[in-house]
Amino acid sequence: MKDQIEINGETRIVGIIGDPVSHSLSPCMHNAAFAAKALDAVYIPWPVAVEDFPTALQAVRRMENFSGGNVTVPHKEHAAKLCDGLSPEAEALGAVNTLVAQDGRLFGHNTDGAGFLRSLEEGGFDPKGKRVLLLGAGGAAKAVAFALAGAGTAELTIANRTLERAEALAALLRGRSPGCQILALSLHNKPLAPAIASADLVVNATTLGLKPEDPSPIDWGPLNSRALAVDLIYNPTETAFLKGASRRGLKVQNGLGMLLYQGAAAFELWTKEAAPLGAMRAALRAAFSRKL
Ligand code: NAP
Repeated sequence: MKDQIEINGETRIVGIIGDPVSHSLSPCMHNAAFAAKALDAVYIPWPVAVEDFPTALQAVRRMENFSGGNVTVPHKEHAAKLCDGLSPEAEALGAVNTLVAQDGRLFGHNTDGAGFLRSLEEGGFDPKGKRVLLLGAGGAAKAVAFALAGAGTAELTIANRTLERAEALAALLRGRSPGCQILALSLHNKPLAPAIASADLVVNATTLGLKPEDPSPIDWGPLNSRALAVDLIYNPTETAFLKGASRRGLKVQNGLGMLLYQGAAAFELWTKEAAPLGAMRAALRAAFSRKL
């Protein structure tokens, strides 16, 4: 394992393109991974404004030492339109979070769903045949919903502040996952209570909780005491949603596992090597303790 990054004439370049990117933990996670595997590569942040994104992609296509990277807000959907090819996941979601460069072309992948499923697996939860309540219908919720439906979830209730978005996601999924019963609800609706009570898994994929003072998106009420509550948010590490679930004795998980495993899947696409999970997890924890 290398102790520090050394840049030379052969170093491969990987990075994260977004606006903003200064908050991202991906550089520390991936640089630790490259060091742990003694790979001659460096991961850097690229803040790129919306209007400059096509030019930036065109530029990295021409860089012979560019291996790929991550794409984050607000460019994920735009990237799906500009890549030279898409993985089935990226194609289905219409969003790219990982770029792989090959012979001057860029291939778009989306590792969010796989990262989410791997984090569930780590927590000992198998979604096959289960009932899931998913809060939110934005980009992350869409990746989670597709992954859960693909993993054999029996019932998926999507509850969103804007009902039309939940309905649109449900309609998209129904066409692709006939084995999964899908329901769309408004987040602020009484019919949500039975969905909470019967869920084996409740996932917060809204942005409510990013601010420390944010309330939980749901009132828990009667519930299945063996259910798992997952918040995709990892900073703060414990949101009001997770605090409420913990108080009621549920098992809880924040979004750090998904962050780690979506990153591990991206690392494996760039390097074709197994991701050094221990080093990546340690780097994330260290970055957190510096931030908190
Ligand atoms: P997004 O596309 O902007 O979607 C935001 C979602 O939050 C929408 O469903 C929106 O509902 C809902 N929402 C926003 N404000 C709300 C409020 N005040 N009350 C109730 N619902 C509200 O965002 P995203 O990219 O999906 O990200 C969602 C969350 O997932 C973020 O917290 C993000 O940090 C997290 N995330 C984590 C990972 C990870 O690796 N752990 C990866 C990706 C995302 P409307 O449709 O009604 O606006």
